[in-house]
Amino acid sequence: MREQPLSFRGTSVRPLPRKNRQWSSGRTCAEDGCPTELSIYNRSKYCWAHEPVHYYVARGRKKKAEAA
Ligand SMILES: [Zn+2]
Repeated sequence: MREQPLSFRGTSVRPLPRKNRQWSSGRTCAEDGCPTELSIYNRSKYCWAHEPVHYYVARGRKKKAEAA
């Protein structure tokens, strides 16, 4: 049995299918007519204003005056 000379302790970096990559710059919002440039870190096709999905949930809804 031969010992493998390299990457035996798991320290070698495997080629991941996807690394953290920056998205191409210079993209603009997919909303028609929206000139907003998207951040390279913005994975969405839309700008923050047109992003259909919001990943945050507004907490602390104002209590409606019930049985006023
Ligand atoms: Zn937009």
